[in-house]
Amino acid sequence: MSTLTIYNTLTRRKEAFVPLVPGKAGLYVCGPTVYDYIHVGNARTFSVFDLVVRWLRASGYAVTYVRNITDVDDKIMERARERGVAIDELTGRTARAFAEDCARLGLVVPDAEPRATRYIGPMLDLIAHLESKGLAYRGANGDVYFAVRGFPGYGKLSRRNLDELRAGERVAVEAAKRDPLDFVLWKAAKAGEPSWPSAFGDGRPGWHIECSAMAGRELGETIDIHGGGWDLQFPHHENEIAQSEGASGRPFVRYWMHAAFLNMGDEKMSKSLGNFFTAREILDRLDPVQGGEQLRFFLLRGHYRSELAYTWDLLEEAGHALRGFYTALREVPADGTPVDWGHPLAARFRAAMDDDFDTPVAFAVLHELRGEVNRSRSAALAGLLRGLGGTLGFLQQDPEAFLKGGVTLDVEALVAERAAAKKARDFARADAIRAELDAAGIVLEDRPGGATEWRKK
Ligand code: AMP
Ligand code: ZN
Repeated sequence: MSTLTIYNTLTRRKEAFVPLVPGKAGLYVCGPTVYDYIHVGNARTFSVFDLVVRWLRASGYAVTYVRNITDVDDKIMERARERGVAIDELTGRTARAFAEDCARLGLVVPDAEPRATRYIGPMLDLIAHLESKGLAYRGANGDVYFAVRGFPGYGKLSRRNLDELRAGERVAVEAAKRDPLDFVLWKAAKAGEPSWPSAFGDGRPGWHIECSAMAGRELGETIDIHGGGWDLQFPHHENEIAQSEGASGRPFVRYWMHAAFLNMGDEKMSKSLGNFFTAREILDRLDPVQGGEQLRFFLLRGHYRSELAYTWDLLEEAGHALRGFYTALREVPADGTPVDWGHPLAARFRAAMDDDFDTPVAFAVLHELRGEVNRSRSAALAGLLRGLGGTLGFLQQDPEAFLKGGVTLDVEALVAERAAAKKARDFARADAIRAELDAAGIVLEDRPGGATEWRKK
Protein backbone atom coordinates (compact mmCIF):
# COMPACT_ATOMS: atom_id res chain seq x y z
CA MET A 1 0.00 0.00 0.00
CA SER A 2 1.24 3.47 -0.82
CA THR A 3 2.08 6.02 1.82
CA LEU A 4 1.05 9.61 1.76
CA THR A 5 3.61 12.11 0.54
CA ILE A 6 3.14 15.85 0.82
CA TYR A 7 5.00 18.63 -0.94
CA ASN A 8 6.42 20.69 1.88
CA THR A 9 6.87 24.34 0.94
CA LEU A 10 9.55 24.64 3.62
CA THR A 11 11.85 22.05 2.03
CA ARG A 12 10.52 22.36 -1.56
CA ARG A 13 10.30 18.58 -1.71
CA LYS A 14 7.72 15.86 -1.48
CA GLU A 15 8.14 14.12 1.86
CA ALA A 16 6.52 11.07 3.45
CA PHE A 17 3.86 12.27 5.86
CA VAL A 18 4.91 11.37 9.40
CA PRO A 19 2.74 13.11 11.97
CA LEU A 20 3.99 14.05 15.41
CA VAL A 21 1.69 11.48 17.05
CA PRO A 22 1.16 8.29 15.02
CA GLY A 23 -2.39 8.02 13.70
CA LYS A 24 -3.24 11.63 14.44
CA ALA A 25 -3.03 14.75 12.31
CA GLY A 26 -3.47 18.35 13.39
CA LEU A 27 -4.19 20.82 10.61
CA TYR A 28 -4.37 24.60 10.81
CA VAL A 29 -5.63 26.65 7.88
CA CYS A 30 -5.65 30.44 7.75
CA GLY A 31 -9.28 31.38 7.35
CA PRO A 32 -11.03 34.45 6.00
CA THR A 33 -10.90 38.03 7.15
CA VAL A 34 -14.60 38.62 7.66
CA TYR A 35 -15.39 41.97 6.07
CA ASP A 36 -17.02 40.66 2.87
CA TYR A 37 -18.22 37.51 1.13
CA ILE A 38 -15.53 35.08 0.01
CA HIS A 39 -14.73 34.94 -3.70
CA VAL A 40 -14.23 31.83 -5.79
CA GLY A 41 -10.45 32.07 -5.33
CA ASN A 42 -10.82 31.90 -1.56
CA ALA A 43 -13.23 29.00 -2.11
CA ARG A 44 -10.49 27.18 -4.02
CA THR A 45 -8.07 27.34 -1.11
CA PHE A 46 -10.70 26.24 1.40
CA SER A 47 -11.83 23.42 -0.89
CA VAL A 48 -8.23 22.24 -1.24
CA PHE A 49 -7.77 21.90 2.52
CA ASP A 50 -11.19 20.30 2.83
CA LEU A 51 -9.88 17.70 0.41
CA VAL A 52 -6.73 17.24 2.50
CA VAL A 53 -8.79 16.70 5.64
CA ARG A 54 -11.10 14.23 3.90
CA TRP A 55 -8.24 12.24 2.43
CA LEU A 56 -6.39 12.08 5.77
CA ARG A 57 -9.59 10.81 7.40
CA ALA A 58 -10.19 8.29 4.60
CA SER A 59 -6.61 7.11 5.22
CA GLY A 60 -7.41 6.42 8.86
CA TYR A 61 -5.98 9.49 10.60
CA ALA A 62 -7.83 11.08 13.49
CA VAL A 63 -7.74 14.65 12.23
CA THR A 64 -8.17 17.83 14.22
CA TYR A 65 -9.02 20.51 11.71
CA VAL A 66 -8.72 24.15 12.79
CA ARG A 67 -9.59 27.07 10.51
CA ASN A 68 -9.58 30.51 12.09
CA ILE A 69 -11.63 33.60 11.49
CA THR A 70 -9.87 36.96 11.45
CA ASP A 71 -12.34 39.41 12.92
CA VAL A 72 -10.11 42.36 13.78
CA ASP A 73 -8.31 44.13 10.95
CA ASP A 74 -8.01 47.46 9.12
CA LYS A 75 -10.25 46.36 6.27
CA ILE A 76 -12.96 45.38 8.73
CA MET A 77 -12.82 48.74 10.49
CA GLU A 78 -12.89 50.57 7.17
CA ARG A 79 -15.89 48.60 5.88
CA ALA A 80 -17.81 49.01 9.15
CA ARG A 81 -17.23 52.76 8.96
CA GLU A 82 -18.35 52.93 5.32
CA ARG A 83 -21.50 50.98 6.05
CA GLY A 84 -22.18 52.70 9.33
CA VAL A 85 -22.51 49.42 11.20
CA ALA A 86 -20.88 48.19 14.40
CA ILE A 87 -17.77 46.04 13.85
CA ASP A 88 -19.27 43.10 15.73
CA GLU A 89 -22.35 43.23 13.59
CA LEU A 90 -20.31 43.24 10.38
CA THR A 91 -17.99 40.43 11.45
CA GLY A 92 -20.84 38.34 12.91
CA ARG A 93 -22.91 38.65 9.76
CA THR A 94 -19.95 37.97 7.45
CA ALA A 95 -18.85 34.94 9.46
CA ARG A 96 -22.39 33.54 9.20
CA ALA A 97 -22.39 34.15 5.45
CA PHE A 98 -19.04 32.35 5.23
CA ALA A 99 -20.51 29.35 7.08
CA GLU A 100 -23.45 29.33 4.62
CA ASP A 101 -21.11 29.44 1.62
CA CYS A 102 -19.05 26.57 3.04
CA ALA A 103 -22.22 24.54 3.61
CA ARG A 104 -23.39 25.16 0.05
CA LEU A 105 -19.99 24.02 -1.22
CA GLY A 106 -20.30 20.92 0.93
CA LEU A 107 -17.15 21.58 2.98
CA VAL A 108 -16.69 19.70 6.25
CA VAL A 109 -17.14 21.81 9.35
CA PRO A 110 -13.78 22.31 11.09
CA ASP A 111 -13.34 20.96 14.61
CA ALA A 112 -12.55 24.47 15.80
CA GLU A 113 -13.06 27.88 14.20
CA PRO A 114 -11.28 30.21 16.61
CA ARG A 115 -12.06 33.88 16.23
CA ALA A 116 -9.16 36.23 16.81
CA THR A 117 -10.98 38.58 19.18
CA ARG A 118 -11.55 35.69 21.59
CA TYR A 119 -7.84 34.87 21.80
CA ILE A 120 -6.46 38.23 22.85
CA GLY A 121 -5.20 36.71 26.13
CA PRO A 122 -3.09 34.00 24.44
CA MET A 123 -1.76 36.58 21.97
CA LEU A 124 -0.65 38.85 24.78
CA ASP A 125 0.96 35.91 26.61
CA LEU A 126 2.88 35.10 23.47
CA ILE A 127 4.02 38.69 22.97
CA ALA A 128 5.15 38.88 26.62
CA HIS A 129 7.07 35.64 26.14
CA LEU A 130 8.77 37.04 23.03
CA GLU A 131 9.64 40.22 24.89
CA SER A 132 11.20 38.20 27.71
CA LYS A 133 13.41 36.50 25.10
CA GLY A 134 14.46 39.79 23.55
CA LEU A 135 12.45 39.16 20.40
CA ALA A 136 9.83 41.86 20.94
CA TYR A 137 10.26 45.51 21.83
CA ARG A 138 8.13 48.58 22.32
CA GLY A 139 8.50 51.25 19.70
CA ALA A 140 8.44 54.95 20.47
CA ASN A 141 4.93 55.16 18.98
CA GLY A 142 3.54 52.63 21.50
CA ASP A 143 3.38 49.73 19.02
CA VAL A 144 5.13 46.48 19.90
CA TYR A 145 7.34 44.95 17.19
CA PHE A 146 8.98 41.61 16.50
CA ALA A 147 12.76 41.96 16.19
CA VAL A 148 13.43 40.03 13.00
CA ARG A 149 17.20 40.33 13.46
CA GLY A 150 16.90 38.26 16.65
CA PHE A 151 15.45 35.23 14.90
CA PRO A 152 18.13 33.49 12.81
CA GLY A 153 15.72 31.39 10.73
CA TYR A 154 13.89 34.37 9.34
CA GLY A 155 13.21 33.89 5.62
CA LYS A 156 13.53 30.11 5.59
CA LEU A 157 10.02 29.42 4.29
CA SER A 158 9.97 31.99 1.51
CA ARG A 159 13.72 31.52 0.85
CA ARG A 160 14.59 35.16 1.21
CA ASN A 161 17.53 36.44 3.09
CA LEU A 162 17.47 39.56 5.16
CA ASP A 163 19.88 41.50 2.97
CA GLU A 164 17.81 40.86 -0.13
CA LEU A 165 14.71 41.84 1.72
CA ARG A 166 16.33 45.05 2.92
CA ALA A 167 17.59 45.89 -0.56
CA GLY A 168 14.05 45.52 -1.86
CA GLU A 169 12.61 47.61 0.91
CA ARG A 170 11.09 50.70 -0.68
CA VAL A 171 9.22 52.20 2.21
CA ALA A 172 11.00 54.70 4.38
CA VAL A 173 12.20 53.28 7.66
CA GLU A 174 9.52 53.91 10.19
CA ALA A 175 11.15 55.75 13.02
CA ALA A 176 9.53 53.53 15.62
CA LYS A 177 11.18 50.35 14.30
CA ARG A 178 14.74 49.24 14.86
CA ASP A 179 14.79 47.51 11.51
CA PRO A 180 12.51 48.10 8.52
CA LEU A 181 11.67 44.38 8.39
CA ASP A 182 10.40 44.26 11.95
CA PHE A 183 6.66 43.69 11.98
CA VAL A 184 3.98 44.73 14.39
CA LEU A 185 2.70 42.43 17.12
CA TRP A 186 0.51 44.88 19.01
CA LYS A 187 -0.85 48.18 17.72
CA ALA A 188 -1.37 51.00 20.17
CA ALA A 189 -5.01 52.08 20.50
CA LYS A 190 -6.28 54.88 18.31
CA ALA A 191 -9.47 56.84 18.81
CA GLY A 192 -12.46 55.13 17.25
CA GLU A 193 -10.73 51.74 16.89
CA PRO A 194 -11.44 48.65 18.94
CA SER A 195 -8.85 48.03 21.63
CA TRP A 196 -8.09 45.79 24.56
CA PRO A 197 -6.21 46.60 27.75
CA SER A 198 -2.76 45.06 28.10
CA ALA A 199 0.60 45.37 29.82
CA PHE A 200 1.79 47.06 26.61
CA GLY A 201 -0.99 49.62 26.85
CA ASP A 202 -4.41 49.57 25.25
CA GLY A 203 -4.31 48.27 21.72
CA ARG A 204 -5.15 45.52 19.27
CA PRO A 205 -3.19 42.62 17.82
CA GLY A 206 -1.31 42.52 14.52
CA TRP A 207 -2.52 39.95 12.01
CA HIS A 208 0.38 37.46 12.24
CA ILE A 209 0.31 37.02 16.01
CA GLU A 210 -3.32 35.89 15.80
CA CYS A 211 -2.50 32.72 13.92
CA SER A 212 0.52 31.83 16.06
CA ALA A 213 -1.60 32.18 19.20
CA MET A 214 -4.66 30.36 17.93
CA ALA A 215 -2.68 27.54 16.31
CA GLY A 216 -0.64 27.08 19.49
CA ARG A 217 -3.69 27.12 21.73
CA GLU A 218 -5.73 24.71 19.61
CA LEU A 219 -3.04 22.32 18.36
CA GLY A 220 0.07 22.73 20.51
CA GLU A 221 3.57 24.06 19.87
CA THR A 222 4.20 21.85 16.87
CA ILE A 223 1.47 21.21 14.38
CA ASP A 224 1.48 18.66 11.59
CA ILE A 225 0.11 20.62 8.64
CA HIS A 226 -0.35 24.34 8.18
CA GLY A 227 -2.07 25.59 5.07
CA GLY A 228 -3.19 28.65 3.20
CA GLY A 229 -3.11 30.25 -0.21
CA TRP A 230 0.15 30.76 -2.06
CA ASP A 231 0.34 34.45 -1.20
CA LEU A 232 0.45 33.77 2.53
CA GLN A 233 4.00 32.37 2.44
CA PHE A 234 5.43 35.84 2.83
CA PRO A 235 5.12 37.68 5.05
CA HIS A 236 2.29 36.00 6.96
CA HIS A 237 3.62 32.47 7.38
CA GLU A 238 7.22 33.60 7.62
CA ASN A 239 6.17 35.80 10.51
CA GLU A 240 4.13 33.06 12.13
CA ILE A 241 7.25 30.86 12.12
CA ALA A 242 9.36 33.64 13.66
CA GLN A 243 6.83 34.23 16.44
CA SER A 244 6.02 30.62 17.25
CA GLU A 245 9.54 29.21 16.99
CA GLY A 246 11.03 32.29 18.57
CA ALA A 247 8.84 31.68 21.60
CA SER A 248 8.90 27.88 21.88
CA GLY A 249 12.32 27.06 20.47
CA ARG A 250 10.66 24.10 18.69
CA PRO A 251 9.61 23.54 15.09
CA PHE A 252 6.24 25.19 14.55
CA VAL A 253 5.00 23.21 11.53
CA ARG A 254 6.06 19.86 10.10
CA TYR A 255 4.46 20.29 6.65
CA TRP A 256 3.66 23.63 5.07
CA MET A 257 1.10 23.42 2.27
CA HIS A 258 0.12 26.24 -0.08
CA ALA A 259 -2.68 26.19 -2.62
CA ALA A 260 -2.06 27.88 -5.96
CA PHE A 261 -4.23 30.73 -7.17
CA LEU A 262 -7.44 30.73 -9.03
CA ASN A 263 -6.92 33.24 -11.83
CA MET A 264 -9.06 35.44 -14.00
CA GLY A 265 -7.19 35.48 -17.27
CA ASP A 266 -3.55 35.87 -16.26
CA GLU A 267 -4.21 37.56 -12.97
CA LYS A 268 -4.96 36.27 -9.52
CA MET A 269 -8.62 36.64 -8.64
CA SER A 270 -8.59 39.19 -5.86
CA LYS A 271 -10.72 41.70 -4.05
CA SER A 272 -8.23 44.48 -4.55
CA LEU A 273 -8.05 44.01 -8.34
CA GLY A 274 -11.83 43.84 -8.47
CA ASN A 275 -11.68 40.85 -10.89
CA PHE A 276 -13.66 38.47 -8.74
CA PHE A 277 -16.94 36.63 -8.41
CA THR A 278 -18.20 35.84 -4.96
CA ALA A 279 -18.77 32.16 -4.29
CA ARG A 280 -22.43 32.86 -3.60
CA GLU A 281 -23.13 34.69 -6.85
CA ILE A 282 -21.73 31.72 -8.76
CA LEU A 283 -23.69 29.26 -6.64
CA ASP A 284 -26.85 31.30 -7.23
CA ARG A 285 -26.34 30.95 -10.97
CA LEU A 286 -25.91 27.19 -10.80
CA ASP A 287 -28.55 24.58 -10.18
CA PRO A 288 -29.45 24.59 -6.46
CA VAL A 289 -29.05 20.82 -6.13
CA GLN A 290 -25.97 20.35 -8.31
CA GLY A 291 -24.17 23.67 -7.94
CA GLY A 292 -22.18 23.20 -4.74
CA GLU A 293 -20.73 19.86 -5.77
CA GLN A 294 -20.16 21.19 -9.29
CA LEU A 295 -18.22 24.23 -8.13
CA ARG A 296 -16.09 22.15 -5.75
CA PHE A 297 -15.46 19.59 -8.50
CA PHE A 298 -14.33 22.39 -10.83
CA LEU A 299 -12.01 23.78 -8.14
CA LEU A 300 -10.42 20.42 -7.40
CA ARG A 301 -10.01 18.94 -10.87
CA GLY A 302 -6.67 20.64 -11.32
CA HIS A 303 -3.76 19.88 -9.02
CA TYR A 304 -3.77 22.14 -5.97
CA ARG A 305 -0.24 23.42 -6.74
CA SER A 306 -1.17 24.45 -10.30
CA GLU A 307 -2.86 27.70 -11.05
CA LEU A 308 -6.38 27.35 -12.33
CA ALA A 309 -8.21 29.70 -14.68
CA TYR A 310 -11.78 30.50 -13.93
CA THR A 311 -14.15 30.35 -16.87
CA TRP A 312 -17.85 29.67 -17.02
CA ASP A 313 -17.21 27.06 -19.74
CA LEU A 314 -14.87 25.07 -17.50
CA LEU A 315 -17.40 25.28 -14.70
CA GLU A 316 -20.10 23.94 -17.02
CA GLU A 317 -17.79 21.21 -18.19
CA ALA A 318 -17.26 20.16 -14.57
CA GLY A 319 -21.04 19.95 -14.18
CA HIS A 320 -21.26 17.82 -17.30
CA ALA A 321 -18.60 15.43 -16.04
CA LEU A 322 -20.28 15.17 -12.66
CA ARG A 323 -23.63 14.41 -14.26
CA GLY A 324 -21.87 11.67 -16.23
CA PHE A 325 -20.88 10.00 -12.95
CA TYR A 326 -24.35 10.34 -11.51
CA THR A 327 -25.92 9.02 -14.70
CA ALA A 328 -23.79 5.88 -14.43
CA LEU A 329 -24.91 5.51 -10.82
CA ARG A 330 -28.55 6.01 -11.76
CA GLU A 331 -28.34 3.33 -14.44
CA VAL A 332 -26.43 0.92 -12.23
CA PRO A 333 -27.36 1.40 -8.58
CA ALA A 334 -24.36 1.03 -6.29
CA ASP A 335 -24.18 -1.72 -3.72
CA GLY A 336 -23.32 -0.55 -0.23
CA THR A 337 -20.10 -2.45 0.40
CA PRO A 338 -17.07 -0.53 1.67
CA VAL A 339 -14.29 0.36 -0.76
CA ASP A 340 -12.21 -2.66 -1.76
CA TRP A 341 -8.74 -1.11 -1.74
CA GLY A 342 -7.39 -4.28 -3.31
CA HIS A 343 -9.18 -3.52 -6.58
CA PRO A 344 -6.61 -2.29 -9.12
CA LEU A 345 -8.56 0.91 -9.85
CA ALA A 346 -8.94 1.65 -6.14
CA ALA A 347 -5.22 1.07 -5.68
CA ARG A 348 -4.45 3.51 -8.48
CA PHE A 349 -6.82 6.07 -7.02
CA ARG A 350 -5.13 5.75 -3.65
CA ALA A 351 -1.65 5.96 -5.14
CA ALA A 352 -2.63 9.18 -6.92
CA MET A 353 -4.12 10.77 -3.82
CA ASP A 354 -1.15 9.64 -1.76
CA ASP A 355 1.13 11.33 -4.27
CA ASP A 356 0.64 14.83 -2.90
CA PHE A 357 -3.12 14.80 -3.56
CA ASP A 358 -2.90 14.29 -7.31
CA THR A 359 -6.57 14.85 -8.09
CA PRO A 360 -6.20 15.02 -11.91
CA VAL A 361 -4.97 11.43 -11.89
CA ALA A 362 -7.45 10.34 -9.21
CA PHE A 363 -10.38 11.78 -11.18
CA ALA A 364 -9.08 10.15 -14.37
CA VAL A 365 -9.29 6.83 -12.52
CA LEU A 366 -12.89 7.62 -11.59
CA HIS A 367 -13.68 8.28 -15.26
CA GLU A 368 -12.19 4.94 -16.18
CA LEU A 369 -14.23 3.29 -13.47
CA ARG A 370 -17.37 4.99 -14.75
CA GLY A 371 -16.66 3.41 -18.15
CA GLU A 372 -16.33 0.00 -16.47
CA VAL A 373 -19.61 0.51 -14.64
CA ASN A 374 -21.40 1.38 -17.88
CA ARG A 375 -19.92 -1.65 -19.65
CA SER A 376 -20.26 -4.24 -16.91
CA ARG A 377 -23.41 -2.93 -15.20
CA SER A 378 -21.86 -4.28 -12.02
CA ALA A 379 -23.38 -3.02 -8.77
CA ALA A 380 -20.08 -3.74 -7.03
CA LEU A 381 -18.17 -1.50 -9.43
CA ALA A 382 -20.84 1.17 -9.09
CA GLY A 383 -20.34 0.85 -5.33
CA LEU A 384 -16.61 1.29 -5.80
CA LEU A 385 -17.18 4.44 -7.87
CA ARG A 386 -19.51 5.89 -5.25
CA GLY A 387 -17.16 4.86 -2.43
CA LEU A 388 -14.02 6.34 -3.99
CA GLY A 389 -15.84 9.56 -4.86
CA GLY A 390 -17.07 9.61 -1.28
CA THR A 391 -13.55 9.71 0.15
CA LEU A 392 -13.35 13.22 -1.36
CA GLY A 393 -16.95 14.17 -0.62
CA PHE A 394 -18.34 13.52 -4.12
CA LEU A 395 -21.11 11.33 -5.60
CA GLN A 396 -23.01 10.92 -2.31
CA GLN A 397 -26.33 12.39 -3.45
CA ASP A 398 -29.24 10.31 -4.68
CA PRO A 399 -28.51 10.05 -8.45
CA GLU A 400 -32.14 10.51 -9.48
CA ALA A 401 -32.56 13.60 -7.30
CA PHE A 402 -29.18 15.01 -8.35
CA LEU A 403 -29.88 14.62 -12.07
CA LYS A 404 -33.32 16.17 -11.80
CA GLY A 405 -31.79 19.13 -10.03
CA GLY A 406 -33.69 21.88 -8.31
CA VAL A 407 -36.34 22.28 -10.93
CA THR A 408 -39.39 24.37 -10.12
CA LEU A 409 -41.59 23.34 -13.07
CA ASP A 410 -43.87 20.39 -12.43
CA VAL A 411 -41.92 18.27 -14.87
CA GLU A 412 -43.69 15.01 -14.06
CA ALA A 413 -47.06 16.55 -14.87
CA LEU A 414 -45.76 18.01 -18.13
CA VAL A 415 -44.17 14.71 -19.13
CA ALA A 416 -47.49 12.92 -18.46
CA GLU A 417 -49.38 15.55 -20.42
CA ARG A 418 -46.97 15.17 -23.31
CA ALA A 419 -47.45 11.38 -23.29
CA ALA A 420 -51.21 11.87 -23.37
CA ALA A 421 -50.90 14.40 -26.21
CA LYS A 422 -48.77 11.99 -28.22
CA LYS A 423 -51.28 9.21 -27.64
CA ALA A 424 -54.04 11.50 -28.88
CA ARG A 425 -51.77 12.31 -31.87
CA ASP A 426 -51.71 15.97 -30.81
CA PHE A 427 -48.05 16.31 -31.85
CA ALA A 428 -48.15 20.08 -31.87
CA ARG A 429 -48.97 20.07 -28.14
CA ALA A 430 -46.37 17.37 -27.45
CA ASP A 431 -43.70 19.40 -29.22
CA ALA A 432 -44.71 22.57 -27.41
CA ILE A 433 -44.26 20.81 -24.07
CA ARG A 434 -40.86 19.53 -25.09
CA ALA A 435 -39.88 23.06 -26.11
CA GLU A 436 -41.11 24.51 -22.81
CA LEU A 437 -39.07 21.98 -20.86
CA ASP A 438 -36.07 22.55 -23.09
CA ALA A 439 -36.24 26.27 -22.38
CA ALA A 440 -36.18 25.42 -18.67
CA GLY A 441 -33.02 23.37 -19.22
CA ILE A 442 -34.68 19.96 -19.13
CA VAL A 443 -33.95 17.25 -21.65
CA LEU A 444 -36.37 14.43 -22.31
CA GLU A 445 -35.16 10.98 -23.26
CA ASP A 446 -37.75 8.72 -24.77
CA ARG A 447 -37.03 5.09 -23.97
CA PRO A 448 -38.10 2.05 -25.96
CA GLY A 449 -41.48 0.92 -24.62
CA GLY A 450 -42.83 4.44 -24.31
CA ALA A 451 -41.39 5.59 -20.98
CA THR A 452 -39.74 9.02 -20.83
CA GLU A 453 -36.81 9.93 -18.61
CA TRP A 454 -35.76 13.51 -18.00
CA ARG A 455 -32.69 15.28 -16.71
CA LYS A 456 -31.20 18.74 -16.37
CA LYS A 457 -29.07 19.89 -19.30
P1 AMP B 1 -8.14 36.43 2.68
O1 AMP B 1 -9.52 36.51 3.29
O2 AMP B 1 -7.93 37.45 1.59
O3 AMP B 1 -7.06 36.46 3.73
O4 AMP B 1 -8.00 35.05 1.92
C1 AMP B 1 -8.38 33.81 2.48
C2 AMP B 1 -7.60 32.69 1.83
O5 AMP B 1 -7.86 32.65 0.42
C3 AMP B 1 -6.10 32.82 1.98
O6 AMP B 1 -5.57 31.54 2.25
C4 AMP B 1 -5.64 33.32 0.64
O7 AMP B 1 -4.32 32.94 0.35
C5 AMP B 1 -6.61 32.61 -0.28
N1 AMP B 1 -6.76 33.26 -1.60
C6 AMP B 1 -6.94 34.58 -1.87
N2 AMP B 1 -7.05 34.80 -3.20
C7 AMP B 1 -6.95 33.58 -3.81
C8 AMP B 1 -6.99 33.12 -5.18
N3 AMP B 1 -7.18 33.94 -6.20
N4 AMP B 1 -6.85 31.80 -5.41
C9 AMP B 1 -6.67 30.94 -4.38
N5 AMP B 1 -6.62 31.31 -3.08
C10 AMP B 1 -6.76 32.60 -2.78
ZN1 ZN C 1 -2.71 32.77 9.39
